[in-house]
Amino acid sequence: MEKIVLYPSPGIGHLISMVELGKLLLSHTSSISSITILIPNFPFIKGSYSSYISSVSSSFPSITFISLPSVPLLHGDPSNYENMEHILFETLGNNNPNVLQCLQSISESSPISAFIIDFFCYPSLEISKSLEIPTYFFFTSGASCMALFLNFPVYDKIYSDSFRNLDAMIEIPGLFSVHSSYMVEPVLDRGKSYSEFVKVSENFRKSDGIIINTFESLEEKAVMGLKQGICLPGNPIPPVYFIGPLIATRGDNNGGERDECLGWLDSQPSQSVVYLGFGSRGMFSMEQLWEIAIGLENSGVRFLWVVRSPPPTSRDINNVFLAPPELDLNSILPEGFLDRTKDRGLVVKSWVPQIQILGHRSVGGFVTHCGWNSILEAIDDGVPMVAWPLYAEQRFNKVLLVEEIGIALPMNESKDRFVCSSEIEKRVKQIISSKEGDVVRKRVLELKDEAKATINEEGSSSVALKTFIKSWNKTLHRERET
Ligand code: UDP
Repeated sequence: MEKIVLYPSPGIGHLISMVELGKLLLSHTSSISSITILIPNFPFIKGSYSSYISSVSSSFPSITFISLPSVPLLHGDPSNYENMEHILFETLGNNNPNVLQCLQSISESSPISAFIIDFFCYPSLEISKSLEIPTYFFFTSGASCMALFLNFPVYDKIYSDSFRNLDAMIEIPGLFSVHSSYMVEPVLDRGKSYSEFVKVSENFRKSDGIIINTFESLEEKAVMGLKQGICLPGNPIPPVYFIGPLIATRGDNNGGERDECLGWLDSQPSQSVVYLGFGSRGMFSMEQLWEIAIGLENSGVRFLWVVRSPPPTSRDINNVFLAPPELDLNSILPEGFLDRTKDRGLVVKSWVPQIQILGHRSVGGFVTHCGWNSILEAIDDGVPMVAWPLYAEQRFNKVLLVEEIGIALPMNESKDRFVCSSEIEKRVKQIISSKEGDVVRKRVLELKDEAKATINEEGSSSVALKTFIKSWNKTLHRERET
């Protein structure tokens, strides 16, 4: 019987798709006896983790979660760090002794068939390799983004200035070019996070394979580029498996009870509501929240808007990462806004059951921060998007959605990333009812069908999954023989 160990990085977006991978493996491989998921202790991101974990544990007894002990920060206070990614890389690196102990104890009775890790957890590759465990990366963003990531060491040699200062088009061979300012947020400056991302990229190539949460017809150029090595000329790329879309099962992320906002959606006309949701970490300044409110009010469009407290103005990294303080909507939104829009709008604090919302017949458009899970969820339900990226690789995803795939309208912003109310008004009207909105809706509905087909018995993602499952046995034998 086979044992699989998964090692996601902190953050609900990374955890959910990794858990879905575990469930998928269980449903396709009767020989798997256990899936163990290592959960790093990382107090700087709060989310609805525990209810999610307990709901998965009770529905899937073969999935076990192990919480890793906490590791102290080398530089003490979080404010001594560049950004959250910097803390993540350090913490996950310092977790190696704990990971080693877990892997040794799990493999005591029989070997581990595959160790599947998030890219933030790359330091553990060294350990698993030394234990001869076949080790794969699971990439929680798309294939195009993977092609970009693989090129970081190449860009590092070509450009001596930071991406933030460059003002250049960055080419991804065989794919497309993006402006340097659309680069992944933590690599914009040449700090500690930047060098970690370059190392991540080098480590992808040392693994036994890379699993990507996408499907072939969604990112054809990137899939081809990765399969044929076109996107990283002169360097071998390990086998790549496109097995998506992996999306949380409806019901997993709300603790079982039907949320109030779904009842509100029940009373709205079909495809009339624009949903505005910005992932697990999306926050706006007070000024920006006002502008959104004015734009929504002037648009006359029905809306469901998830609002989080604005971040503190000081660079208090600790506050940025911890759960925001209790939010008083009346004190942060324009006076009378909630009252004036109460017949056609609902504002919800902090967290909603997004998957159920996107699947609701009343939702006709999604203003999204372009997190990869959110994108896949919108595609799965055929909901067209307005792309308003905020952090991580989301600016890159915006280019992909708007210019390459054609399933989102852009939310245009000023140089300092401010979006004015008239732009918000225009885009929410367009996505619900306009020629431009119809074009992206038509394309996303086509992709919805393709996404379903790809996970059918003979679909490309199912085939890729089977190939992946076969690969770990081959890898195991090869490693034992050498
Ligand atoms: N999510 C949710 N409710 C919320 C915010 C987010 O259920 O109010 C879920 C969303 O459905 C998605 C995940 O959290 O599965 C966020 O992942 P994504 O990659 O979109 O963004 P991230 O939070 O990682 O930036």
